Amino acid sequence: MTNKVYKNKRLLKALNTFRNESGLPDVVVKKRKCLKCDKTFTSLGIFNRLCESCTRNNKNEDTAEFYAVGKN
Ligand SMILES: [Zn+2]
Repeated sequence: MTNKVYKNKRLLKALNTFRNESGLPDVVVKKRKCLKCDKTFTSLGIFNRLCESCTRNNKNEDTAEFYAVGKN
């Protein structure tokens, strides 16, 4: 899995439609600075404040959780 889907506007719109139907907030793709390492990365929303490598370091025991972000 890469961030490719989030660069495709049509796929992103379909994803957000699905998320809205499930009561989840929209994915908003933005360039943000990682809170941990200050690297600029493509953030998928306000819940996504760490770059990909820091996210992986944080949750290396449970990578599936990344795709469920925003559900809790
Ligand atoms: Zn980082």
